[in-house]
Amino acid sequence: MRTELLQNPVFAMAAAQFDQVADFLELNDELRERCKWPKRLITVTVPVRHDDGSTKVYFAHRVQHHLTRGPVKGGLRYHPKVELGEVAALAMWMNWKCALMDLPFGGGKGGINCDPRTLSQGELERITRRFTMEITPFIGEDIDVMAPDMGTNEQTMAWIVDTYATRAGRLVPGIVTGKPLNLQGSAGRTRATGHGVAFLASRALNKLGVQIEGATAIIQGFGNVGSYAARTLASYGVKITGISDVSGAVWNAGGLDLDELTKHVASTGSVVGFAGADAIDPQEMLTQPCDILAPAATDMAINRENAPMLKCRVLAEGANGPTTTEADQIISDRGDIFLIPDILCNAGGVTVSYFEWVQNLQRFQWTEREVLTRLETMLEATFNRVLHFAETNKLPQRTAAQSLAIKTVADVKSQRGLFP
Ligand code: NAD
Repeated sequence: MRTELLQNPVFAMAAAQFDQVADFLELNDELRERCKWPKRLITVTVPVRHDDGSTKVYFAHRVQHHLTRGPVKGGLRYHPKVELGEVAALAMWMNWKCALMDLPFGGGKGGINCDPRTLSQGELERITRRFTMEITPFIGEDIDVMAPDMGTNEQTMAWIVDTYATRAGRLVPGIVTGKPLNLQGSAGRTRATGHGVAFLASRALNKLGVQIEGATAIIQGFGNVGSYAARTLASYGVKITGISDVSGAVWNAGGLDLDELTKHVASTGSVVGFAGADAIDPQEMLTQPCDILAPAATDMAINRENAPMLKCRVLAEGANGPTTTEADQIISDRGDIFLIPDILCNAGGVTVSYFEWVQNLQRFQWTEREVLTRLETMLEATFNRVLHFAETNKLPQRTAAQSLAIKTVADVKSQRGLFP
Protein backbone atom coordinates (compact mmCIF):
# COMPACT_ATOMS: atom_id res chain seq x y z
CA MET A 1 0.00 0.00 0.00
CA ARG A 2 2.93 2.36 0.68
CA THR A 3 4.14 1.92 -2.92
CA GLU A 4 0.63 2.28 -4.33
CA LEU A 5 0.05 5.55 -2.50
CA LEU A 6 3.47 6.93 -3.47
CA GLN A 7 2.72 6.24 -7.14
CA ASN A 8 0.17 9.04 -7.01
CA PRO A 9 1.99 12.35 -7.72
CA VAL A 10 -0.08 14.36 -5.23
CA PHE A 11 0.54 11.85 -2.43
CA ALA A 12 4.24 11.71 -3.39
CA MET A 13 4.32 15.50 -3.04
CA ALA A 14 2.61 15.46 0.39
CA ALA A 15 4.95 12.66 1.53
CA ALA A 16 8.05 14.53 0.28
CA GLN A 17 6.95 17.65 2.19
CA PHE A 18 6.41 15.49 5.29
CA ASP A 19 9.86 13.87 4.99
CA GLN A 20 11.52 17.27 4.71
CA VAL A 21 9.77 18.49 7.86
CA ALA A 22 10.41 15.22 9.73
CA ASP A 23 14.13 15.67 8.96
CA PHE A 24 14.03 19.23 10.28
CA LEU A 25 12.19 18.10 13.45
CA GLU A 26 14.56 15.11 13.77
CA LEU A 27 11.60 12.75 14.31
CA ASN A 28 12.73 9.21 15.02
CA ASP A 29 11.81 6.52 12.46
CA GLU A 30 8.97 4.99 14.52
CA LEU A 31 7.18 8.30 15.12
CA ARG A 32 7.81 9.32 11.52
CA GLU A 33 6.00 6.20 10.27
CA ARG A 34 3.09 6.69 12.65
CA CYS A 35 2.61 10.33 11.64
CA LYS A 36 3.02 9.84 7.90
CA TRP A 37 0.64 7.00 7.01
CA PRO A 38 -3.15 7.24 7.13
CA LYS A 39 -5.02 5.35 9.84
CA ARG A 40 -7.96 4.31 7.62
CA LEU A 41 -8.32 4.07 3.84
CA ILE A 42 -11.94 3.32 2.96
CA THR A 43 -13.16 2.60 -0.57
CA VAL A 44 -16.80 1.91 -1.36
CA THR A 45 -18.67 1.37 -4.60
CA VAL A 46 -21.79 3.41 -5.18
CA PRO A 47 -24.34 1.96 -7.61
CA VAL A 48 -26.65 4.64 -8.99
CA ARG A 49 -29.63 4.59 -11.30
CA HIS A 50 -29.35 7.28 -13.98
CA ASP A 51 -32.22 9.31 -15.41
CA ASP A 52 -32.21 7.19 -18.59
CA GLY A 53 -32.83 4.02 -16.54
CA SER A 54 -29.25 2.68 -16.78
CA THR A 55 -27.19 1.87 -13.67
CA LYS A 56 -23.60 2.94 -13.15
CA VAL A 57 -21.16 2.05 -10.36
CA TYR A 58 -19.00 4.89 -8.99
CA PHE A 59 -15.89 4.45 -6.84
CA ALA A 60 -15.73 6.59 -3.69
CA HIS A 61 -12.92 6.98 -1.17
CA ARG A 62 -12.69 8.34 2.34
CA VAL A 63 -9.31 8.59 4.06
CA GLN A 64 -9.08 9.27 7.80
CA HIS A 65 -5.48 10.29 8.35
CA HIS A 66 -5.43 10.27 12.17
CA LEU A 67 -7.95 10.30 14.98
CA THR A 68 -5.23 11.08 17.53
CA ARG A 69 -6.43 14.60 18.34
CA GLY A 70 -10.17 14.11 17.77
CA PRO A 71 -12.66 13.18 15.04
CA VAL A 72 -11.45 13.63 11.48
CA LYS A 73 -12.61 16.63 9.53
CA GLY A 74 -12.36 17.29 5.83
CA GLY A 75 -14.15 17.87 2.57
CA LEU A 76 -15.91 15.59 0.12
CA ARG A 77 -15.19 16.28 -3.56
CA TYR A 78 -16.90 15.15 -6.74
CA HIS A 79 -14.43 15.21 -9.62
CA PRO A 80 -13.49 12.91 -12.54
CA LYS A 81 -9.86 12.80 -11.37
CA VAL A 82 -10.55 11.57 -7.82
CA GLU A 83 -8.11 8.78 -6.88
CA LEU A 84 -7.30 7.12 -3.56
CA GLY A 85 -3.73 8.50 -3.50
CA GLU A 86 -4.86 12.07 -4.08
CA VAL A 87 -7.56 11.74 -1.41
CA ALA A 88 -4.92 10.39 1.02
CA ALA A 89 -2.66 13.37 0.29
CA LEU A 90 -5.50 15.80 0.91
CA ALA A 91 -6.34 13.98 4.17
CA MET A 92 -2.72 14.32 5.29
CA TRP A 93 -2.73 18.07 4.56
CA MET A 94 -6.03 18.40 6.44
CA ASN A 95 -4.38 16.70 9.39
CA TRP A 96 -1.61 19.30 9.49
CA LYS A 97 -4.11 22.12 8.86
CA CYS A 98 -6.28 21.15 11.86
CA ALA A 99 -3.18 20.82 14.07
CA LEU A 100 -1.76 24.15 12.87
CA MET A 101 -5.04 25.93 13.69
CA ASP A 102 -5.20 24.02 17.00
CA LEU A 103 -8.63 22.59 16.17
CA PRO A 104 -9.56 19.39 18.07
CA PHE A 105 -9.67 17.35 14.85
CA GLY A 106 -7.59 15.00 12.77
CA GLY A 107 -7.59 15.28 8.98
CA GLY A 108 -9.83 13.45 6.56
CA LYS A 109 -10.82 13.73 2.94
CA GLY A 110 -13.27 12.03 0.63
CA GLY A 111 -14.07 11.95 -3.01
CA ILE A 112 -16.33 10.31 -5.54
CA ASN A 113 -14.91 9.70 -8.99
CA CYS A 114 -17.63 11.31 -11.13
CA ASP A 115 -18.12 14.38 -13.28
CA PRO A 116 -20.78 16.47 -11.53
CA ARG A 117 -21.11 18.75 -14.56
CA THR A 118 -22.59 15.91 -16.61
CA LEU A 119 -25.00 14.70 -13.91
CA SER A 120 -28.55 15.92 -13.28
CA GLN A 121 -29.63 17.12 -9.82
CA GLY A 122 -31.55 13.87 -9.39
CA GLU A 123 -28.47 11.79 -10.24
CA LEU A 124 -26.30 13.85 -7.89
CA GLU A 125 -28.85 13.38 -5.12
CA ARG A 126 -28.97 9.60 -5.65
CA ILE A 127 -25.14 9.36 -5.72
CA THR A 128 -24.91 11.38 -2.50
CA ARG A 129 -27.61 9.43 -0.67
CA ARG A 130 -26.24 6.02 -1.68
CA PHE A 131 -22.67 7.09 -0.79
CA THR A 132 -23.92 8.25 2.63
CA MET A 133 -25.52 4.83 3.22
CA GLU A 134 -22.30 3.04 2.24
CA ILE A 135 -20.07 5.24 4.43
CA THR A 136 -22.40 5.45 7.46
CA PRO A 137 -20.61 2.68 9.43
CA PHE A 138 -17.42 4.75 9.32
CA ILE A 139 -18.67 8.27 10.12
CA GLY A 140 -20.29 10.08 13.05
CA GLU A 141 -20.21 13.50 14.69
CA ASP A 142 -17.45 12.21 17.01
CA ILE A 143 -15.70 10.12 14.34
CA ASP A 144 -15.66 11.77 10.92
CA VAL A 145 -17.36 15.02 9.92
CA MET A 146 -17.46 15.83 6.18
CA ALA A 147 -17.83 19.23 4.48
CA PRO A 148 -18.15 20.60 0.93
CA ASP A 149 -15.16 20.69 -1.42
CA MET A 150 -14.76 20.81 -5.21
CA GLY A 151 -17.98 19.86 -6.96
CA THR A 152 -20.07 19.66 -3.77
CA ASN A 153 -22.01 22.34 -1.89
CA GLU A 154 -24.52 22.96 0.90
CA GLN A 155 -27.21 21.04 -1.02
CA THR A 156 -24.92 17.97 -1.00
CA MET A 157 -24.50 18.37 2.77
CA ALA A 158 -28.30 18.69 3.23
CA TRP A 159 -28.80 15.33 1.43
CA ILE A 160 -26.16 13.73 3.68
CA VAL A 161 -27.87 15.08 6.81
CA ASP A 162 -31.25 13.81 5.61
CA THR A 163 -29.97 10.35 4.67
CA TYR A 164 -28.07 9.97 7.95
CA ALA A 165 -31.10 11.24 9.94
CA THR A 166 -33.37 8.71 8.24
CA ARG A 167 -31.06 5.92 9.37
CA ALA A 168 -30.45 7.32 12.89
CA GLY A 169 -34.12 8.19 13.49
CA ARG A 170 -33.18 11.72 14.62
CA LEU A 171 -31.53 14.83 13.22
CA VAL A 172 -27.75 14.77 13.79
CA PRO A 173 -26.69 18.21 12.49
CA GLY A 174 -23.05 17.72 13.54
CA ILE A 175 -22.60 14.86 11.05
CA VAL A 176 -21.42 17.35 8.38
CA THR A 177 -20.57 21.05 8.19
CA GLY A 178 -21.16 23.53 5.39
CA LYS A 179 -24.92 22.94 5.70
CA PRO A 180 -27.63 25.42 4.64
CA LEU A 181 -28.24 28.07 7.31
CA ASN A 182 -31.76 26.90 8.12
CA LEU A 183 -30.48 23.34 8.60
CA GLN A 184 -28.16 24.49 11.42
CA GLY A 185 -25.36 25.62 9.14
CA SER A 186 -23.18 28.46 10.36
CA ALA A 187 -23.38 32.07 9.35
CA GLY A 188 -20.23 32.89 7.39
CA ARG A 189 -19.36 29.27 6.45
CA THR A 190 -19.91 29.65 2.70
CA ARG A 191 -17.61 32.63 2.46
CA ALA A 192 -15.12 31.47 5.13
CA THR A 193 -12.36 29.92 2.99
CA GLY A 194 -12.23 32.69 0.38
CA HIS A 195 -12.60 35.36 3.06
CA GLY A 196 -9.66 33.85 4.95
CA VAL A 197 -7.53 33.73 1.78
CA ALA A 198 -8.21 37.42 1.14
CA PHE A 199 -7.69 38.38 4.80
CA LEU A 200 -4.30 36.64 4.97
CA ALA A 201 -3.24 38.04 1.57
CA SER A 202 -3.95 41.50 2.97
CA ARG A 203 -1.87 40.71 6.09
CA ALA A 204 0.99 39.59 3.82
CA LEU A 205 0.83 42.80 1.76
CA ASN A 206 0.83 44.69 5.03
CA LYS A 207 4.04 42.91 6.12
CA LEU A 208 5.61 43.79 2.76
CA GLY A 209 4.63 47.45 3.20
CA VAL A 210 2.37 47.40 0.11
CA GLN A 211 -0.80 49.48 0.31
CA ILE A 212 -3.86 47.22 0.02
CA GLU A 213 -6.18 49.75 -1.56
CA GLY A 214 -5.33 49.84 -5.27
CA ALA A 215 -3.31 46.59 -5.17
CA THR A 216 -4.05 44.04 -7.92
CA ALA A 217 -5.00 40.36 -7.75
CA ILE A 218 -5.32 37.42 -10.15
CA ILE A 219 -7.42 34.43 -9.16
CA GLN A 220 -7.43 30.95 -10.65
CA GLY A 221 -10.83 29.35 -10.06
CA PHE A 222 -14.17 31.11 -9.63
CA GLY A 223 -15.95 28.55 -7.47
CA ASN A 224 -16.54 28.81 -3.75
CA VAL A 225 -12.99 29.78 -2.72
CA GLY A 226 -12.06 31.92 -5.72
CA SER A 227 -15.28 33.90 -5.88
CA TYR A 228 -15.36 34.78 -2.16
CA ALA A 229 -11.63 35.57 -2.14
CA ALA A 230 -12.32 37.96 -5.04
CA ARG A 231 -15.27 39.55 -3.22
CA THR A 232 -13.42 40.15 0.05
CA LEU A 233 -10.33 41.46 -1.77
CA ALA A 234 -12.55 43.83 -3.78
CA SER A 235 -14.14 45.03 -0.52
CA TYR A 236 -10.62 46.02 0.65
CA GLY A 237 -10.18 48.10 -2.55
CA VAL A 238 -8.09 45.49 -4.42
CA LYS A 239 -8.54 45.44 -8.22
CA ILE A 240 -9.19 41.91 -9.55
CA THR A 241 -7.60 41.95 -13.01
CA GLY A 242 -7.78 38.27 -14.02
CA ILE A 243 -10.03 35.32 -13.19
CA SER A 244 -10.05 31.86 -14.74
CA ASP A 245 -12.15 28.74 -14.45
CA VAL A 246 -12.01 25.28 -15.99
CA SER A 247 -13.21 26.65 -19.37
CA GLY A 248 -11.02 29.75 -19.81
CA ALA A 249 -9.90 33.08 -18.38
CA VAL A 250 -10.89 36.76 -18.53
CA TRP A 251 -8.81 39.89 -18.08
CA ASN A 252 -9.49 43.55 -17.40
CA ALA A 253 -6.51 45.69 -16.35
CA GLY A 254 -8.93 48.25 -14.89
CA GLY A 255 -10.51 45.64 -12.60
CA LEU A 256 -13.30 43.12 -13.27
CA ASP A 257 -16.86 43.97 -12.25
CA LEU A 258 -17.54 41.01 -9.95
CA ASP A 259 -21.31 41.48 -9.74
CA GLU A 260 -21.62 41.43 -13.52
CA LEU A 261 -19.18 38.52 -13.81
CA THR A 262 -21.17 36.54 -11.22
CA LYS A 263 -24.38 37.14 -13.21
CA HIS A 264 -22.60 36.04 -16.40
CA VAL A 265 -21.35 32.83 -14.72
CA ALA A 266 -24.83 32.14 -13.30
CA SER A 267 -26.37 32.36 -16.76
CA THR A 268 -23.65 30.69 -18.88
CA GLY A 269 -21.81 28.42 -16.40
CA SER A 270 -18.39 29.95 -17.08
CA VAL A 271 -16.38 33.19 -17.05
CA VAL A 272 -15.74 32.72 -20.80
CA GLY A 273 -17.41 35.30 -23.05
CA PHE A 274 -17.86 37.90 -20.27
CA ALA A 275 -18.52 41.20 -22.04
CA GLY A 276 -16.71 43.34 -19.45
CA ALA A 277 -13.29 41.77 -20.12
CA ASP A 278 -10.91 40.40 -22.73
CA ALA A 279 -10.17 36.71 -23.13
CA ILE A 280 -6.71 35.60 -21.99
CA ASP A 281 -4.94 32.26 -22.06
CA PRO A 282 -5.45 30.76 -18.56
CA GLN A 283 -1.76 29.80 -18.26
CA GLU A 284 -0.56 33.23 -19.43
CA MET A 285 -2.88 34.85 -16.92
CA LEU A 286 -0.95 33.25 -14.05
CA THR A 287 2.29 34.95 -15.04
CA GLN A 288 0.93 38.50 -15.48
CA PRO A 289 2.22 41.15 -13.03
CA CYS A 290 0.07 41.46 -9.89
CA ASP A 291 0.38 41.96 -6.15
CA ILE A 292 -1.61 38.84 -5.20
CA LEU A 293 -1.86 35.59 -7.15
CA ALA A 294 -4.41 33.21 -5.64
CA PRO A 295 -4.56 29.71 -7.15
CA ALA A 296 -8.01 28.58 -5.95
CA ALA A 297 -8.83 25.66 -8.23
CA THR A 298 -6.78 22.48 -8.55
CA ASP A 299 -3.55 21.01 -7.20
CA MET A 300 -0.19 21.45 -8.99
CA ALA A 301 -1.23 24.66 -10.80
CA ILE A 302 2.09 26.34 -9.98
CA ASN A 303 4.82 24.14 -11.39
CA ARG A 304 8.39 24.22 -12.65
CA GLU A 305 7.25 25.72 -16.00
CA ASN A 306 5.44 28.76 -14.64
CA ALA A 307 7.16 29.29 -11.24
CA PRO A 308 10.20 31.09 -12.72
CA MET A 309 7.87 33.46 -14.61
CA LEU A 310 5.52 34.45 -11.78
CA LYS A 311 5.29 38.21 -11.27
CA CYS A 312 3.31 38.35 -8.03
CA ARG A 313 4.44 39.59 -4.61
CA VAL A 314 2.13 37.30 -2.64
CA LEU A 315 1.19 33.75 -3.60
CA ALA A 316 -1.94 33.00 -1.59
CA GLU A 317 -2.70 29.28 -1.85
CA GLY A 318 -6.50 29.05 -1.83
CA ALA A 319 -6.47 25.53 -3.30
CA ASN A 320 -4.94 22.50 -1.60
CA GLY A 321 -1.52 21.55 -2.96
CA PRO A 322 -1.46 24.12 -5.80
CA THR A 323 2.36 24.37 -5.81
CA THR A 324 4.54 21.41 -6.81
CA THR A 325 7.67 20.53 -4.84
CA GLU A 326 9.86 21.75 -7.73
CA ALA A 327 7.98 25.05 -7.93
CA ASP A 328 8.35 25.42 -4.15
CA GLN A 329 12.10 25.16 -4.50
CA ILE A 330 12.13 27.71 -7.35
CA ILE A 331 10.03 30.14 -5.30
CA SER A 332 12.21 29.65 -2.26
CA ASP A 333 15.40 30.25 -4.33
CA ARG A 334 13.89 33.37 -5.94
CA GLY A 335 13.15 34.80 -2.50
CA ASP A 336 10.95 37.59 -3.90
CA ILE A 337 7.53 35.97 -3.38
CA PHE A 338 5.70 35.85 -0.03
CA LEU A 339 4.05 32.42 -0.05
CA ILE A 340 1.10 31.79 2.26
CA PRO A 341 0.97 27.98 2.37
CA ASP A 342 -2.32 26.17 1.78
CA ILE A 343 -2.63 24.69 5.26
CA LEU A 344 -2.70 28.23 6.62
CA CYS A 345 -4.11 30.20 3.69
CA ASN A 346 -7.29 28.17 3.14
CA ALA A 347 -7.77 27.19 6.81
CA GLY A 348 -10.71 29.59 7.09
CA GLY A 349 -13.04 26.87 5.81
CA VAL A 350 -12.19 24.22 8.37
CA THR A 351 -12.03 26.80 11.16
CA VAL A 352 -15.59 27.96 10.51
CA SER A 353 -16.57 24.31 10.02
CA TYR A 354 -15.25 23.79 13.55
CA PHE A 355 -17.40 26.76 14.70
CA GLU A 356 -20.41 25.18 12.95
CA TRP A 357 -19.78 21.84 14.69
CA VAL A 358 -19.45 23.58 18.08
CA GLN A 359 -22.72 25.49 17.45
CA ASN A 360 -24.43 22.20 16.49
CA LEU A 361 -23.24 20.46 19.66
CA GLN A 362 -24.35 23.46 21.75
CA ARG A 363 -27.63 23.94 19.80
CA PHE A 364 -26.73 27.62 19.59
CA GLN A 365 -26.28 30.02 16.64
CA TRP A 366 -23.59 32.71 16.37
CA THR A 367 -23.94 35.83 14.21
CA GLU A 368 -21.85 36.29 11.05
CA ARG A 369 -19.92 39.11 12.75
CA GLU A 370 -19.06 36.80 15.69
CA VAL A 371 -17.96 34.06 13.28
CA LEU A 372 -15.80 36.28 11.06
CA THR A 373 -14.23 38.12 14.01
CA ARG A 374 -13.28 34.85 15.72
CA LEU A 375 -11.98 33.54 12.38
CA GLU A 376 -9.81 36.57 11.68
CA THR A 377 -8.42 36.50 15.23
CA MET A 378 -7.39 32.84 14.88
CA LEU A 379 -5.99 33.27 11.36
CA GLU A 380 -3.96 36.33 12.33
CA ALA A 381 -2.51 34.63 15.42
CA THR A 382 -1.49 31.56 13.38
CA PHE A 383 -0.12 33.73 10.56
CA ASN A 384 2.10 35.56 13.06
CA ARG A 385 3.16 32.29 14.71
CA VAL A 386 4.19 30.80 11.33
CA LEU A 387 5.99 33.97 10.28
CA HIS A 388 7.90 34.11 13.58
CA PHE A 389 8.88 30.42 13.36
CA ALA A 390 9.98 30.82 9.72
CA GLU A 391 12.09 33.87 10.52
CA THR A 392 13.64 32.39 13.67
CA ASN A 393 14.54 29.09 11.96
CA LYS A 394 15.25 30.55 8.49
CA LEU A 395 12.64 28.29 6.89
CA PRO A 396 10.25 28.73 3.96
CA GLN A 397 6.73 29.50 5.21
CA ARG A 398 5.40 26.09 4.11
CA THR A 399 8.06 24.20 6.04
CA ALA A 400 7.47 26.47 9.04
CA ALA A 401 3.69 25.89 9.00
CA GLN A 402 4.05 22.14 8.53
CA SER A 403 6.74 21.91 11.22
CA LEU A 404 4.48 23.55 13.82
CA ALA A 405 1.61 21.26 12.81
CA ILE A 406 3.55 17.99 12.57
CA LYS A 407 5.28 18.66 15.89
CA THR A 408 1.86 19.08 17.53
CA VAL A 409 0.68 15.72 16.15
CA ALA A 410 3.95 13.94 16.96
CA ASP A 411 3.89 15.29 20.55
CA VAL A 412 0.31 14.07 21.10
CA LYS A 413 1.15 10.64 19.65
CA SER A 414 4.14 10.42 22.01
CA GLN A 415 2.05 11.53 25.02
CA ARG A 416 -0.71 9.01 24.26
CA GLY A 417 1.86 6.27 23.74
CA LEU A 418 1.36 3.12 21.71
CA PHE A 419 -1.43 0.64 22.49
CA PRO A 420 -1.03 -2.18 23.54
P1 NAD B 1 -15.46 24.66 -6.58
O1 NAD B 1 -15.87 23.40 -7.21
O2 NAD B 1 -16.50 25.51 -5.92
O3 NAD B 1 -14.72 25.60 -7.65
C1 NAD B 1 -13.61 25.17 -8.38
C2 NAD B 1 -13.31 26.23 -9.43
O4 NAD B 1 -12.08 25.90 -10.07
C3 NAD B 1 -14.36 26.31 -10.53
O5 NAD B 1 -14.53 27.67 -10.92
C4 NAD B 1 -13.73 25.50 -11.67
O6 NAD B 1 -14.22 25.90 -12.95
C5 NAD B 1 -12.28 25.91 -11.48
N1 NAD B 1 -11.32 25.00 -12.11
C6 NAD B 1 -11.29 23.64 -12.11
N2 NAD B 1 -10.23 23.22 -12.81
C7 NAD B 1 -9.58 24.32 -13.24
C8 NAD B 1 -8.42 24.53 -14.01
N3 NAD B 1 -7.72 23.52 -14.48
N4 NAD B 1 -8.04 25.82 -14.26
C9 NAD B 1 -8.74 26.87 -13.79
N5 NAD B 1 -9.85 26.72 -13.04
C10 NAD B 1 -10.26 25.47 -12.78
O7 NAD B 1 -14.29 24.28 -5.54
P2 NAD B 1 -13.81 25.08 -4.26
O8 NAD B 1 -14.58 24.63 -3.08
O9 NAD B 1 -13.74 26.54 -4.58
O10 NAD B 1 -12.33 24.47 -4.08
C11 NAD B 1 -11.22 24.95 -4.81
C12 NAD B 1 -9.95 24.49 -4.14
O11 NAD B 1 -9.92 24.99 -2.80
C13 NAD B 1 -9.75 22.98 -4.01
O12 NAD B 1 -8.38 22.67 -4.07
C14 NAD B 1 -10.27 22.69 -2.60
O13 NAD B 1 -9.71 21.50 -2.07
C15 NAD B 1 -9.74 23.91 -1.89
N6 NAD B 1 -10.43 24.21 -0.63
C16 NAD B 1 -11.78 24.42 -0.59
C17 NAD B 1 -12.37 24.75 0.61
C18 NAD B 1 -13.84 25.09 0.71
O14 NAD B 1 -14.28 25.48 1.80
N7 NAD B 1 -14.61 25.01 -0.35
C19 NAD B 1 -11.60 24.81 1.80
C20 NAD B 1 -10.22 24.59 1.72
C21 NAD B 1 -9.65 24.30 0.49
